Amino acid sequence: MELPFAESYRIKMIEPIRRSTRAEREQWIKEAKYNLFNLKSEYVFVDLLTDSGTGAMSDRQWSEMMLGDESYAGASSFFKFKDAIREIMGFEYVLPTHQGRAAENVLFSVLIKEGDLVPGNSHFDTTKGHIEYRKAKAVDCTIDEAFDTTLVHPFKGNVDLGKLEKVLKENGNKVSFIVLTITCNSSGGQPVSIENMKGVRKLADEYGKKIVMDSARFAENAYFIKMREEGYGSKSIREIVLEMFSYADAVTMSAKKDAIVNIGGFIAMRDKELYNSASVFEIMYEGYLTYGGLAGRDLSAIAQGLHEATEFDYLETRVKQVEYLGNKLLGFGIPIQQPIGGHAIFVDAKRFLPQVKKEECIAQTLAIHLYIEAGIRGVEIGSILADRDPVTRENRYPELELMRLAIPRRVYTNNHMDLIAVALKNIWDKRNTIRTGFRIVREAPIMRHFTVELEKV
Ligand SMILES: *Cc1c(COP(=O)(O)O)cnc(C)c1O
Repeated sequence: MELPFAESYRIKMIEPIRRSTRAEREQWIKEAKYNLFNLKSEYVFVDLLTDSGTGAMSDRQWSEMMLGDESYAGASSFFKFKDAIREIMGFEYVLPTHQGRAAENVLFSVLIKEGDLVPGNSHFDTTKGHIEYRKAKAVDCTIDEAFDTTLVHPFKGNVDLGKLEKVLKENGNKVSFIVLTITCNSSGGQPVSIENMKGVRKLADEYGKKIVMDSARFAENAYFIKMREEGYGSKSIREIVLEMFSYADAVTMSAKKDAIVNIGGFIAMRDKELYNSASVFEIMYEGYLTYGGLAGRDLSAIAQGLHEATEFDYLETRVKQVEYLGNKLLGFGIPIQQPIGGHAIFVDAKRFLPQVKKEECIAQTLAIHLYIEAGIRGVEIGSILADRDPVTRENRYPELELMRLAIPRRVYTNNHMDLIAVALKNIWDKRNTIRTGFRIVREAPIMRHFTVELEKV
């Protein structure tokens, strides 16, 4: 018999989680104004809100925490951090930040001015927020295939080079840089191929533009390249990572993802002048250049985490767990984004609940039902997240209404995956009884999804 796949780690410490009743959950979600961000985590049994900062650190990372050097300037932890980034990603200059959006804030303060365009594959919400806050515009140049959830394409994170060239040709003078999000979170944790990176690099060079890689899940992207791209099957993850970043001028990183820490981020750059300019904002917003809003222990844990996240065995365990859940759901006939992405399952809420009107928050409606069914907390990637147009203030209705089930790294077992699958199947079986959704009663002027309040229609 072929041996089944098993995790490449074992558990040394556990955290109890609490079961609840359906009646309790109905009460709690109502009190939370039907916003899952407003729920106390103790009211959640399986928390799939995000894979950001929710991973389990290894014994070696905890050891590094104890070795943290808390000196204000020049701490040894900073040099471990800097060396890991140089060795794994190939960048000479680094600035630590307290998380990924802080890296965007610091770097974009240098690179973006009012009226600029920032083309790329589907921008992550904080990236878009930091662009629009500066009165610039994020231009989505993702390939059309990404928006058809039924279509199996190995690199749905890819940039449509035709769309990108059009932006550069028509408005090249306004383009501040090109952003490549690896993996592409907003289109479903979908990877970008090396071939596509090369194509983007070629256009960037032709028009004299920088490429910034939004690299939260760069290691998962490298895993997909190894598994799916011709000519990369025998390369190591480390070799692929170095090649990926060879096409970038700078990187913004949320270490809460593929550095498997609970807090942290950084900017990495090739260019000393860019580093010098960014350093001014770093000191203003984040802290001194060698700690940037983090403790020394955090920097040490990131350094160790970057090494672990770029090991093949870790990545295989990680991606296979997400696949395991996805295949269960497909087996039940539940519509999910295909192929299955790296960090999450994206349930196609429009196909799940076609009878719910687009004004009634389709994906949010599904997420609320899943919470009530089994205490599982997913998140809406749909019209609430898409927010209003910054100029017209009209609601934007994205092509995809998705409910994301993000899987924290090294946290849940496949029994939890089974529970999630059956909970969703129960809703699938009674989907025709869900006729209406929810309406917004209060929202913030920007990034409204975190604090939005809803009521039943
Ligand atoms: C999480 C994330 C960010 C922002 O990082 P934070 O650490 O949450 O501030 C930016 N881009 C992508 C692709 C992300 O996934």
